[in-house]
Amino acid sequence: MTKTTVSLNIYYPPRILSLREPVVHLEHCIEFTVRGNPYPILTWYHNNQPLRPVDFIRQEVYKQDTLMEGCLLFNKPTHYYNGNYTLIARNKFGIATQTVYAHFLEQPYPENTDYFVSADLGISPTPPISVTHKPEEDTFGVSIAVGLAAFACVLLVVLFIVINKYGRRSKFGMKGPVAVISGEEDSASPLHHINHGITTPNSLDAGPDTVVIGMTRIPVIENPQYFRQGHNCHKPDTYVQYIKRRDIVLKRELGEGAFGKVFLAECYNLSPTKDKMLVAVKALKDPTLAARKDFQREAELLTNLQHDHIVKFYGVCGDGDPLIMVFEYMKHGDLNKFLRAHGPDAMILVDGQPRQTKGDLGLSQMLHIATQIASGMVYLASQHFVHRDLATRNCLVGANLLVKIGDFGMSRDVYSTDYYRVGGHTMLPIRWMPPESIMYRKFTTESDVWSFGVILWEIFTYGKQPWFQLSNTEVIECITQGRVLERPRVAPKEIYDIMLGCWQREPQLRLNIKEIFKILQALGKASPIYLDILG
Ligand code: AMP
Repeated sequence: MTKTTVSLNIYYPPRILSLREPVVHLEHCIEFTVRGNPYPILTWYHNNQPLRPVDFIRQEVYKQDTLMEGCLLFNKPTHYYNGNYTLIARNKFGIATQTVYAHFLEQPYPENTDYFVSADLGISPTPPISVTHKPEEDTFGVSIAVGLAAFACVLLVVLFIVINKYGRRSKFGMKGPVAVISGEEDSASPLHHINHGITTPNSLDAGPDTVVIGMTRIPVIENPQYFRQGHNCHKPDTYVQYIKRRDIVLKRELGEGAFGKVFLAECYNLSPTKDKMLVAVKALKDPTLAARKDFQREAELLTNLQHDHIVKFYGVCGDGDPLIMVFEYMKHGDLNKFLRAHGPDAMILVDGQPRQTKGDLGLSQMLHIATQIASGMVYLASQHFVHRDLATRNCLVGANLLVKIGDFGMSRDVYSTDYYRVGGHTMLPIRWMPPESIMYRKFTTESDVWSFGVILWEIFTYGKQPWFQLSNTEVIECITQGRVLERPRVAPKEIYDIMLGCWQREPQLRLNIKEIFKILQALGKASPIYLDILG
């Protein structure tokens, strides 16, 4: 007996077996199943326009026999991504197409040009494609869009030829047609450029660490210097005071930050006049070498910052484990908690317990709190110190409504929803950040002023989270498109005017922190009847 096997390979044109509306696994995904032999090549169209690589993360395909099962993945798509997605499968025997309508997100606010900043600020004044109606209705719109796109392409080709011919980078950057946002060009940093919704080599490379604004992807690159080395008051000859471990007696836990636990403690031999005093100690357990270095740098930095409205730093216990930093004790804890505990929602927030205080904070107390933070900031600015993370959660409250700026980049965990995680572990306090910090990681004294405006808003809303009604992606869209927070109900017009002065889009047009301090001082002295509470 003999046996022979023959292998039969039947070629046939593609068939799209299924194309489903987006589902959310880890990311949004349009699932599809296609058959064809040989395997067809897949291409995608969004509202009849070819889908650009910047518009989605990737296409995942699993092949088995002649079956292709796959997923078109999107990273946090906004409402601009809503619309018809057409899949075209093609091999040499034929072609198959199928369309599915994808609805990712409700439009967060009515389409209004007020919400989009002008093109010279780097973001297209209207989203390139924004279709939320059914496909049959949009033939006319699509024709216009195709016409415009063709015109844009011709224009780009002409520009490209001109640039190549004259070898100039000028405002088109080095890799492709990208627009420059800031005046100074920094060829080393792609962050000084923004993609105008045009595919560039930069944007094609953009991985998951991108923020999508409209149809524009902005690269968000992890900056290891974000909270540590950027501070420029680090002096190499700083003398950090060392405190003996046996002089510290822990009493109870006060809170927890990303840096470690914070305890109330008694410290002996610290004050020349008192045998012992209450202090707050931050303990870092099992530090890595990098954490030890950060710790040392932080201690040097804090030693150099001394002002009535900056929390007092006494020194460190740097030998052995845990590493300890010793600070003055501020008995009412962080300002955000304090504001919430003294606002109209205090009952809900403190487990329904009747509150011990006499009532909500009044206008003059709010002004007093704001003036003290502004005073601390005037000092930081005089030291050319950019804080980058000013917020009420990073201020502390002591006796007699004494308020100080109390944290320099260590409070990450407890308020983690206030931060937006980009990539691995970089957390950005986007709700407190101006457009230039979100888009280019540009942090300056002026960006601190923007954050101060948000602090004022927090104070006058009794500690609400800015943009609490929006998701992080929506917040990024709002801020970069030029929207600002609304006036808090209890904020007088004069105070909201300061907020608006802090939220000028152009950093140079923002109020200066010294001016703000003076205005607040003057308002604090004015009788409340002069403050226009009702606007
Ligand atoms: P941090 O690691 O600085 O974010 O601190 C975590 C929490 O500990 C804060 O939210 C405060 O409630 C508390 N805390 C930190 N520093 C002090 C201090 N100097 N005095 C009193 N409480 C503090």
